[in-house]
Amino acid sequence: MSISQRIKEKIDIVDLISSYVKLTRSGKNYIGLCPFHNDHNPSFTVSPEKQLFYCFGCKEGGDVIKFLMKIEHLSYREALVQLGRRVGIEIDETGEESNGGIREFYKVNDLVTRYFYYILMETQYGKTPREYLARRGIKKETIDTFRLGYAIASWNALQKFLERKGISLETQEILGLIINDKETGKTYDRFRDRIIFPIIDITGHTLGFGGRVLDDSLPKYINTPETPIFRKGQILYGLYQTRDEIMKKDQAIIVEGYMDCISLYQAGIKNVVASMGTAFTREQGLALKRIAKDIVIAFDTDTAGDLAVIRGANVLREVGCSVRIARWSVFKDPDEFVRNQGPIVFLDIINRAKPFLDYMLDLLINRYDISTLEGRVQFFQEFFPLLRTEPRVSVQRAYLDKIATLGKIPPEILYREFDVFYISRKKEFEVTSISALSWMQREDIDALRERLERQLLFFALNDVKFLNIIRQLLQPDIFTVKEYREIYERLLQWDFDSGGFETEDDRLSSIIAQINISEQIELSENTLYETINRLNGIILQKKKEELIKELELAEKSGDVERTKELASKIQELTKEIFSIGERRMSVNG
Ligand SMILES: [Zn+2]
Repeated sequence: MSISQRIKEKIDIVDLISSYVKLTRSGKNYIGLCPFHNDHNPSFTVSPEKQLFYCFGCKEGGDVIKFLMKIEHLSYREALVQLGRRVGIEIDETGEESNGGIREFYKVNDLVTRYFYYILMETQYGKTPREYLARRGIKKETIDTFRLGYAIASWNALQKFLERKGISLETQEILGLIINDKETGKTYDRFRDRIIFPIIDITGHTLGFGGRVLDDSLPKYINTPETPIFRKGQILYGLYQTRDEIMKKDQAIIVEGYMDCISLYQAGIKNVVASMGTAFTREQGLALKRIAKDIVIAFDTDTAGDLAVIRGANVLREVGCSVRIARWSVFKDPDEFVRNQGPIVFLDIINRAKPFLDYMLDLLINRYDISTLEGRVQFFQEFFPLLRTEPRVSVQRAYLDKIATLGKIPPEILYREFDVFYISRKKEFEVTSISALSWMQREDIDALRERLERQLLFFALNDVKFLNIIRQLLQPDIFTVKEYREIYERLLQWDFDSGGFETEDDRLSSIIAQINISEQIELSENTLYETINRLNGIILQKKKEELIKELELAEKSGDVERTKELASKIQELTKEIFSIGERRMSVNG
């Protein structure tokens, strides 16, 4: 059984949801006011039998994991970790149950955090770094909040300390605290004579460390390498300290470095996180998307920063964030800016940060001379694909108007250029939407068909026995509703020996919850066969109507052979449809 299923088995969904929502019994389910939309009548339903929730108002639904993800704004893994803790199952970074090693790693890193802090604040070794931080305006309070520390200029101070605490060299090496020189076989401390920035996850554990020199020597920063508990792309520096503020403001400012984050925080701009280097990942983007609508990138002003900004913005937009870009001149990073100009001027920069498309428009207009044909073509090549990602036509038009004015191009010509560019890449989509339109006239039959598909899926979801019957009797493309087909395909691939079916997909899990909670049909083989027959009937009916249309055409054109052929086909179909009706009668009888 998978780890998620073992955890779910030990947690009752009614218990969990009751601590967030007041539930009252209603038949075999519980109902309450939905926590995910502004609900006035109880639309939120919890089924203790199916261990699922579903809201008939906002159509949100799923299992305990999904509920915790939504209500606490967590990722799937984070929700699983929290639920696991409730029932005494510890989960490591890979999503597997930990054998206790992970807990040990957290303990060691937390101990090392306190050790570095102690050296900085309580010993004579800490005098110089304390003065250094004071010169940079960092206050005691801020040092405490971010648990800053100092690593002594020694090859083995930390190693000796940890040995005295009974921590093995192996553990120290796994956690990247010491380096093992393979040639000499000697080990030495990784962090020496550096200010230490512990990298803390949202539960408060230190996963790794960053270390900064006190002078201009290189490398300026070093970090913990990848370890079983530290993966750089999975975490944002400062999020532990700033998460509440980000949620309150519904805005997150992303900076590059530790010092940028700390400086802004101390200056009172507390909704800030650091990407720790320039490669922004989808995982980091999703973590922010869950807690804030407005994401502002405030990276360094150098050229590397420019590229990093575009890459970072693209990652964020791909996961669905709305991104703005803050730019300024003179000061190289937010730390320097805020130390020289103070928070009010910096906040003004943040407030005036440009939406990503505006930023790119300015950048590309400056790069290419759009008064020349060549420059214009290059500009279109780069800007149109970006503009295409804007869903509102009116906004697209506004940008085109702006370009028209800037380039002194007649707007109509520009619209056409954009449409041609647009359509040539959109063809595939166009075709499917046209065919979707032609089905619209067949509303009644299609509504019926969707209901039958939903019932079929309800059977498939509830018993492998039913799933096998469906698999044997029907083609896999029986489902015309895209989501139903996706769920069905996943069911067909599911290994039921490992436990019941489940999915992490947000959309699909809501639909599954909806079907399971709202579908009333009795789960028996007889009712399943009846559903299959009715579905077959509809498919044949549809085929028959198509043939009738063809027949009319053949008659009009006077094609006698074809007319005869079609007429006999229609007759056969009619018989088949009739016999399905008969079979249904006998099943019912
Ligand atoms: Zn709702």
